[in-house]
Amino acid sequence: MKTYQFKGLLDNSDWIIPAFVRVDDEGRILEVASSTSHPISEAFDNYLIPGFQNAHSHAFQYAMAGLAERHATNQTPDDFWSWREAMYDLALRIGPDDLEHIATMLYSEMLRHGYTHVAEFHYVHHEKNGEQFANLSEMGERLVAAAKKVGIGITLVPIFYQKGGFGKAPNAGQIRFISASKDDYLKLLEASEQSTDLYQHANLGIGIHSMRGVEPKVIAELAANGPQDLPFHIHVSEQLKEIEDSIAYLGQRPVEWMLNNIEMNDRYHLVHATHLIDMETEGIAKSGANVVLCPSTEGNLGDGIFPLRQFQSLGGNWSIGTDSHIGINPLEELRILDYGQRLISHKRNTFYSTEEGDSGKYAIAMSWKAGRKAMNKKAVAYFEIGDYFNGVMIDAQVPLLANTRKEDLASTILYATDAAMLAGTFANGELVVKAGQHRIQDQIRNDFNKTIKNLKNRS
Ligand SMILES: [Zn+2]
Repeated sequence: MKTYQFKGLLDNSDWIIPAFVRVDDEGRILEVASSTSHPISEAFDNYLIPGFQNAHSHAFQYAMAGLAERHATNQTPDDFWSWREAMYDLALRIGPDDLEHIATMLYSEMLRHGYTHVAEFHYVHHEKNGEQFANLSEMGERLVAAAKKVGIGITLVPIFYQKGGFGKAPNAGQIRFISASKDDYLKLLEASEQSTDLYQHANLGIGIHSMRGVEPKVIAELAANGPQDLPFHIHVSEQLKEIEDSIAYLGQRPVEWMLNNIEMNDRYHLVHATHLIDMETEGIAKSGANVVLCPSTEGNLGDGIFPLRQFQSLGGNWSIGTDSHIGINPLEELRILDYGQRLISHKRNTFYSTEEGDSGKYAIAMSWKAGRKAMNKKAVAYFEIGDYFNGVMIDAQVPLLANTRKEDLASTILYATDAAMLAGTFANGELVVKAGQHRIQDQIRNDFNKTIKNLKNRS
């Protein structure tokens, strides 16, 4: 058993100052209180907030972060689709060891930035020639192994990808993503579940690449008759071309079609949902389905801006994800999300609810709550008794924070701190990052450096 002392801790309702957290030998929370009679194991002059939930990741893409930014000046403007070609090129070359080392590096960086759980939207699951691995979940197993090595929680979401576009066969660049049939995908899902058994902080989700990636009637079948106890992830309406193609193929927009053909509820996590018309925004909110927003990636790819103000006014739920990992700082994701809305609305109060007018607290609460659902976790309290202890510490002696009253602490952390002020991360009861260093940082970096050197994509 251990008892930690913090300068303060953000509970669901308010700050507890000072705060004492007692955990058992497994890292489960026994008590959170403002005083304690137990001996202190370690005292931190830090504020602690709940660990962030990264609801959307493609780990392999971390290896190409920053590499798609040189644009020919004499060609048509660069867009999502040219980035996708560069991404396919990388996806075709990554082996199981490569993926494990890249993911280990990435997940340790996520922990350093305060994410304590990641949903891995995993579609590079076949061999380089498109055949199945002997262990169907070989690549997924490496993602779980990477998470285990660094101590982050992982929700493995093996992705059903069948088509190269609405009514189109897959192209050569997509060969590693493809399951020919629903049965093939269900076998992959089953094998993936076995992979999650290898790590106590791993669990499973179900996922469809996109409305263009699987025949729509098969998506509806899987939604209705597939496992009902798993979170259901899908990319949707990220690009305008995808919407035009959907209208041409189905006579309906992607989200419109989903609302008309799937019994949507809070099990569903729609990633991006960038381009919506009013009836779609209203339909998602009314159904209880969640939206996963990836502001740094969406900005980097030039996707567009999700109608967050409207969605929130309708009671919609949203989480954040880092997707391509061009950015992996949750505070930055939330700021980009907020500032995009402020810039287009000319108003400042993006983050609000009827009972909470504090932007910092609200953004942390919403991204946590919908993020937990994306991981199939049903806890209501940030620090629930019996749950594993997850949280990120911020240096309380940073001059701005050291001089800030309680009511403004959450927003000062959200809007006015940077990664250098993050003091450490507890994941599943363990202090895995301290003062910016993961506890096995050297090993992680060595493996990553070797892998990138072999891939030769950055040199
Ligand atoms: Zn994605």
